[in-house]
Amino acid sequence: MSVNFALVAGADNYCLFGNPVAHSKSPRIHAEFARQTHQNIHYSAVLVPEHEFPEAVRKFQELGGCGANVTLPFKQEAWRLCAQRQPRAHLAGAVNTLWFGAGGVIVGDNTDGAGLVRDITVNRGLQLRDIDLLVLGAGGAARGVIPALVEASPRRIVIANRTPERALELAAEFGAVFPVEACGFQGLTGQVFDAIINATSASLQGQVPPLPAGVIRAAGWCYDLMYAREPTAFLSWAADRGVSHRIDGLGMLVEQAAESFWIWRGIRPETAPVIKLLRVNGR
Ligand code: NAP
Repeated sequence: MSVNFALVAGADNYCLFGNPVAHSKSPRIHAEFARQTHQNIHYSAVLVPEHEFPEAVRKFQELGGCGANVTLPFKQEAWRLCAQRQPRAHLAGAVNTLWFGAGGVIVGDNTDGAGLVRDITVNRGLQLRDIDLLVLGAGGAARGVIPALVEASPRRIVIANRTPERALELAAEFGAVFPVEACGFQGLTGQVFDAIINATSASLQGQVPPLPAGVIRAAGWCYDLMYAREPTAFLSWAADRGVSHRIDGLGMLVEQAAESFWIWRGIRPETAPVIKLLRVNGR
């Protein structure tokens, strides 16, 4: 196997598995959390070749690793690898946090949704309860955040995706828990929402899904899971439509990390100074 681990003796080791991972801010975020809470941990980013994820996790466990985060493209594979899953991860069908339980069993959770909801409601003071909410995208990120969004009790959730079948599939999976609606972008014509969460990767390509005019109330808010130094394509689109609250995914990134840290260490770090640090000089 071609995965390289850089474990540190005398510390509890954690890592991020992904491909690519070089750009990741997670090592820096967890180092800040550890410093703040006086935890003796080491957190590294591990590049895993496409077909080597299960071996990489087992090797990390053998070497004494304590837990890991999982990012693209392995979140669904991580779900399959876990022998036990927390209910929100089970429902999401995707795992971003894992650790080794009694007898070495691999346990999985998904902290993306909790991170997103906390950033929206606590950090930004915005409401999810009783609103009409549009989620764009039906990939791993949408899958991960929908259980937490459902739990926040919006009046209505619609998932719209470029490939409508994937949105329909996702809505059907959640249908037993909450009546999520699904369509393609054209199906949004004539509908108006209080908030839009962009969980597509379109902003990565500088693109915005083709949304009909009038789909967002100007008094509403738009959230892009992607973050960048400059406003993302989706947040620029929202600005052009007079939407005053426009938020990128940096807060979610730090909040989902804090939730993982809490699971692993039993201590909840302060997120505001870490978000500020990354905003000022770390992006
Ligand atoms: P993914 O599984 O590859 O799914 C990509 C989604 O985007 C699919 O729904 C895809 O539609 C859609 N899409 C891609 N290009 C598009 C375009 N040009 N126009 C319209 N739709 C397009 O990716 P993911 O894991 O869900 O990640 C999505 C985004 O969330 C990424 O930008 C990622 O960085 C971000 N993210 C952020 C955080 C955070 O902590 N802030 C956490 C997780 C993810 P089809 O189904 O039609 O292909």
